[in-house]
Amino acid sequence: MAIKTENNDEKKSISFVEQLVEDDLAAGKNGGRIQTRFPPEPNGYLHIGHAKAICMDFGIAEKYRGVCNLRFDDTNPSKENNEYVENILSDIRWLGFQWGEIFYASDYFEKLWDFAIWLIKKGLAYVDEQSSEAIAQQKGTPTTPGTESPYRNRPIEENLALFHQMNTPEAVEGSMVLRAKLDMANDNMHFRDPIIYRIIQTPHHRTGTKWHCYPMYDFAHGQSDYFEGVTHSICTLEFVPHRPLYDKLVDFLKEMDGTADKLHDNRPRQIEFNRLNLTYTVMSKRKLHTLVDEHLVSGWDDPRMPTLTGMRRRGYSPESIRMFINSIGYTKFDALNDMALLEASVREDLNKKAIRVSAVLDPVKLVITNYPDSQTEEMEAIDNPEDEHSKSHTITFAKELWIERADFMEDAPKKFFRMTPGKEVRLKNAYIVKCTGCTKDADGNITEIRAEYDPNSKSGMEGANRKVKGTLHWVAVNHCQPAEVREYDRLFSVENPSADERDFRELLNPESLTVRTNCYVENYAAARKPGEYLQFQRTGYFMADLDTTPEHLVFNKTVGLKDTWAKQSSKN
Ligand code: ATP
Ligand code: MG
Repeated sequence: MAIKTENNDEKKSISFVEQLVEDDLAAGKNGGRIQTRFPPEPNGYLHIGHAKAICMDFGIAEKYRGVCNLRFDDTNPSKENNEYVENILSDIRWLGFQWGEIFYASDYFEKLWDFAIWLIKKGLAYVDEQSSEAIAQQKGTPTTPGTESPYRNRPIEENLALFHQMNTPEAVEGSMVLRAKLDMANDNMHFRDPIIYRIIQTPHHRTGTKWHCYPMYDFAHGQSDYFEGVTHSICTLEFVPHRPLYDKLVDFLKEMDGTADKLHDNRPRQIEFNRLNLTYTVMSKRKLHTLVDEHLVSGWDDPRMPTLTGMRRRGYSPESIRMFINSIGYTKFDALNDMALLEASVREDLNKKAIRVSAVLDPVKLVITNYPDSQTEEMEAIDNPEDEHSKSHTITFAKELWIERADFMEDAPKKFFRMTPGKEVRLKNAYIVKCTGCTKDADGNITEIRAEYDPNSKSGMEGANRKVKGTLHWVAVNHCQPAEVREYDRLFSVENPSADERDFRELLNPESLTVRTNCYVENYAAARKPGEYLQFQRTGYFMADLDTTPEHLVFNKTVGLKDTWAKQSSKN
């Protein structure tokens, strides 16, 4: 949001996170050093919600000349792997950010183990042999205290022996956990003897079979931040109630590590902001996994997915995603953001970037009867009229063209400014033509339209200057390529699938994908590759899909030129 100051300078208001960081800088904390981290768990692909966290973590580091590192939060080997690590790296690069170093929570397994041993020896942790259900039952409620575990007061030696046993190949998953011995009556439920280690026998993607029990998030995250010297640990609001435990565990760690106070005069400061939630989609990794595993979408990079890889494939630009995130801002309360806002950012950015080409998605033939049979002309087409330095390419004009079926009407109402017998229209980058009639098949379907052109009306000629209401796009029948075009609609048919009681699979929009197989694109468009932003004039923004081959062209519709969704929902 821009605020006018008294001397009329435009000053951007800063987010509350930036304000807290500036307060710390002003107080001289950490010697003026700023260090953030983005901590993905490599158990899936990044989605646009992660992009919001990335923009914050990297944005703060950039703005205050600090560093943002990556830390893979890889403490649950049963769900994590290297494929996810690689894709997360490539998605962050694509978004336009550069990390300082790459760390892994698994780098600290040894240190965390030592810390756990220290806690046990201090009488601050114990091995519980109850089932997870029993432990959950004893947790109490926010208004009633929990019940102590029968194992809570077992001797230190026994705890040490059992903890070592937890870390053997024989240990049975779920048979034991290590819990911090804190306060079963604390108002903050996270203090009621939280589980800090559990047995997992799946080999780890980095440490293999070296470990058999692994720290929980709460026992890894803050400590990892502390080991790395993170100054500001920025995360989402659901971690607010975890913050006291985060602080407590870091304080224990500082107590154990006698020199720590000299190196880090302050513990990392956890700051929370609101998650990004978008209409008509889901952001939970578990649900996204289900969509992929049950083949309800074609993969993590299905262009309908809220994943960065899906959005990239669909043709969204990284700048448009950043622009959208910037526009919604960071607050301290959760909300649902409108997908239409994201699409508006995509349109705004692609308008500046996309190469204008011609493509006919629902073709009908137009014959220019007075144009010489074998003649062709190369017409100049500006790549992007929004860019004053734009290059141009050529499009071949000929006697037989394809135009959109919807651009012709035999008996048209007065306000129909496209093609109809007796009226003139302009063919984009070419001539003014006057429709003379059409041919129909036995069922009344139009098979061919006829028109005559005015040879003096080519763009740039004097005859081109007369007023003609409609301008149509076209491609020449013998100078274009057939293509498949995939059009997308909302993935879910309800606005907030996460708030719906029905199974989320039932809420999928059955019409989220429409495949058109009978389209034609000009040759210049046919040669464009995935990654090149295109505008099919008068239709929308498009990009060549990863499935495209020279023999079978495939394009994705990124977004239409206008928000047609707004119209549809007001009809409903
Ligand atoms: P899971 O559903 O597996 O818990 P997650 O969405 O929390 O996954 P992580 O890989 O743990 O995913 O997230 C990495 C970072 O991204 C965390 O700091 C998290 O707070 C942030 N993040 C995740 N989802 C969103 C979201 N929708 N909006 C903003 N930040 C998010
Ligand atoms: Mg998480």
